[in-house]
Amino acid sequence: MIVNEIKAKNIITKSNLPGIDYVINPYTGCSHSCLYCYARFMKRFSRHEEKWGSFVDVKVNASDLIPAGVTTYRQKSLFISSVTDPYLSLEKKYQITRAILKKLVPLNPKLMIQTKSDLILRDMDILKTFPNCAAGFTITTMDDSVRKEIEPYTSPVEQRIQALKTLKQNGIKTYVFIGPILPSLSDWQEIIAATKEYAHTYILENLNAFGSIWGDIHAWIGSNHPGLLNLYEAIYKGKSEYWNATEAEIRKFGDEEKINYKIVFHHWKTQKIN
Ligand code: SF4
Repeated sequence: MIVNEIKAKNIITKSNLPGIDYVINPYTGCSHSCLYCYARFMKRFSRHEEKWGSFVDVKVNASDLIPAGVTTYRQKSLFISSVTDPYLSLEKKYQITRAILKKLVPLNPKLMIQTKSDLILRDMDILKTFPNCAAGFTITTMDDSVRKEIEPYTSPVEQRIQALKTLKQNGIKTYVFIGPILPSLSDWQEIIAATKEYAHTYILENLNAFGSIWGDIHAWIGSNHPGLLNLYEAIYKGKSEYWNATEAEIRKFGDEEKINYKIVFHHWKTQKIN
């Protein structure tokens, strides 16, 4: 992993994500190296030649860039993070996210913080002090052997579930982001069953295999799960009804189980691949 310490010019940016006003990314790049990472497009803006997932720029001055005493962010939704994970293993040493959180508390934003690492538990003392905070774990599969294939440097699934439980027990509002749902490999019903007691809400997203992501997914399925290759090609090369059917299934299940959930599927993008 190539690690650079950099001085960022700004740290709170306006968001174009639906329902999110502002975003903070404590790092540029991401050492979790998820196979399906959508954030790989960021390489274009970071002047890096290296492969996405092989470098991290640590924004060492990040917390200094958060102003004190302003009302700009009061009750505005602020998401950490959109194109990295706030709890990379580097965070143990640098504590960039921790310093950011400390500076954010008095600004009173509606904080939403999401990770694949149980290192978030280190910062529970600060998270508890936000008047409005939701902490979420991404869980893509309950099968830890699949997790190792697609998210090699993240916390094991069971550790994430235990951490979710601890957050909930400490009075922090929690959610689970189930995504991207990988056809036939993301057992979303099992994820919900395993986390139902600890999650206030769920967000579900399908695999959006555009551009180079499709190449990586196709190669991985071909070598590790060849029996699923026909299914993936049918979904991503044709006008499949797979995601419409999955969405209907989730709605039925979610309503029957009386869970809070939001589906953020991308139907149109899956049909653009050829
Ligand atoms: S944690 Fe998020 S940003 Fe990091 S590699 Fe995985 S998908 Fe990409």
